[in-house]
Amino acid sequence: MGAAKTTFDAVVVGSGACGGWAAKQLTEAGLRVLVLEAGRGPREDKVLRVLHRLRQKLGYRVESDAKRLGRQPIQSTTFAWPFHPHAFVDDVDNPYTTPESQPFAWIRARQVGGRTSVASHGRQFYRLSDHDFKAGSRDGHGPDWPLSLTELAPHYEVVERWMGIRGNADGLDTLPDSHYAAPVPLTAGEQRVKARIERRWPERRVIARRTAAAPSTLPAALRTGRLTLRTHAVVSQVLHDPKLGRASGVIFTDTRTGRTEEVRARVVVLAAGTIESTRLLLHSRSRELPEGLANSSGQLGRNLMDHTYMLGTEARLALSAGEQQAEQSWAYIPRFRNLARQESDFARGYGVQMFTFADQVHLVPFGEMLPRADNRVTLSSTVKDRWGIPAAHIECQHSDNEKRMAEDAVATCLEMLGEAGCTVERVGRTLSKPGMAIHEVGTARMGTDAKTSVLNAHNQSWDVPNLFVMDGACFPSQGAQNPTLTMMALTVRASEHVVRELKAGRL
Ligand SMILES: Cc1cc2nc3c(=O)[nH]c(=O)nc-3n(C[C@H](O)[C@H](O)[C@H](O)COP(=O)(O)OP(=O)(O)OC[C@H]3O[C@@H](n4cnc5c(N)ncnc54)[C@H](O)[C@@H]3O)c2cc1C
Repeated sequence: MGAAKTTFDAVVVGSGACGGWAAKQLTEAGLRVLVLEAGRGPREDKVLRVLHRLRQKLGYRVESDAKRLGRQPIQSTTFAWPFHPHAFVDDVDNPYTTPESQPFAWIRARQVGGRTSVASHGRQFYRLSDHDFKAGSRDGHGPDWPLSLTELAPHYEVVERWMGIRGNADGLDTLPDSHYAAPVPLTAGEQRVKARIERRWPERRVIARRTAAAPSTLPAALRTGRLTLRTHAVVSQVLHDPKLGRASGVIFTDTRTGRTEEVRARVVVLAAGTIESTRLLLHSRSRELPEGLANSSGQLGRNLMDHTYMLGTEARLALSAGEQQAEQSWAYIPRFRNLARQESDFARGYGVQMFTFADQVHLVPFGEMLPRADNRVTLSSTVKDRWGIPAAHIECQHSDNEKRMAEDAVATCLEMLGEAGCTVERVGRTLSKPGMAIHEVGTARMGTDAKTSVLNAHNQSWDVPNLFVMDGACFPSQGAQNPTLTMMALTVRASEHVVRELKAGRL
């Protein structure tokens, strides 16, 4: 039975963290779901991983493979690429454009599991707080989220319980506790840094990471018997009836046969990753909707954000041999700037990830980028990908706010390392180009008003009620925390809404 002949209850585009959760929740609620995934399946990935490891043992270094670097000039700039190069897209087949003065690193994985299945994924999962959800009304930079922590908390908990997130009850207002399956002890080095920093600055808390294995939601969805998974299926457009104002399915190309197929569904869920979901909506334009589908607000594509990110502040801590740990550990200093009051010459703040190994300490600040309409995704009028889909054109640059925040982050990291008794060996002062944090969000923001947002608080298009965008595209603002836990919680919440609305006959 080919997908083209079947009408599903829902088609989900993408099988990453968000698509996987949508598939699990929808199938477990009784829906028949088709997941279309552009990349390869887990078995093919496993074979390629084994081969890669074998070649490495024989001396192969992908970092010096000119052919590979030629195919992946952008993907190869991320730290994770050498460990799992085939997980990342081929940049030649999957181009995008930027203005020359505004480089952007769009780091993408095309395979079942998306970017969370990349071998050296960070696996840091933090909640946002009402400091983030209500940031707009506190400081006037952009809108509030259309929901609060209280509303999202039960959905965070669903994800956390299922993933078995480990961490400690830190009791922080700015970084709400998760539901934890087990504690995470701090290493001797982390404890020493923590004691010294917190003694001098009690508001700067050094906490253990909150972590779990990648969510393996698709196996759970497959076990229901209601999931059809098609890999190597690159979706190009959402099918839409402008008279009815409804989506009817999607068009995709099977990359192995080159055949284009259509599939019908009562509900369409885009979960292809922040920029890609928006690209698909822009490309679903028609004579009636020349600016793209779900874009009556004119907000589609706008307010792209990625954390400011600075690598390279490295130091050594005087630890005895017995105190040094052989494996890398990492801890977190949650945002402490501009919380109770505006105390600096920039808005919002940053969190600092602390990596320790033997006697080495690396501090890596991740700062919040403000939403700005000019940081946006449109479609290239000249460049197409290998499957004929117009490439994304990404315009994104740091504002003075991000630059001032970055300067403060560097100075503060040095100050904290000094207080902790570390010897600083290298200082990273260069703000990475946007995209490098791989925390891109925004471009189809949720809100309370159809005139100023693309989605409502349930990730549902205001314009096309049976169309949902369940990924980071929905973020109205960013927070300083790693975003994926929030994306997954929002997906659980949105999926519950889909089920409710279908049952009520409203979709
Ligand atoms: C190395 C690395 C480390 C990271 N560490 C962290 C961390 O510690 N904490 C954190 O919160 N975040 C982290 N991130 C970011 C995190 O992985 C992303 O936020 C998350 O994966 C986004 O999930 P997603 O489902 O929206 O998108 P993705 O994971 O990108 O999944 C999208 C899926 O859609 C598929 N797809 C794309 N286009 C199409 C199409 N046209 N048709 C069909 N399918 C399509 C893709 O193949 C992919 O499988 C990290 C990312 C990387 C790469």
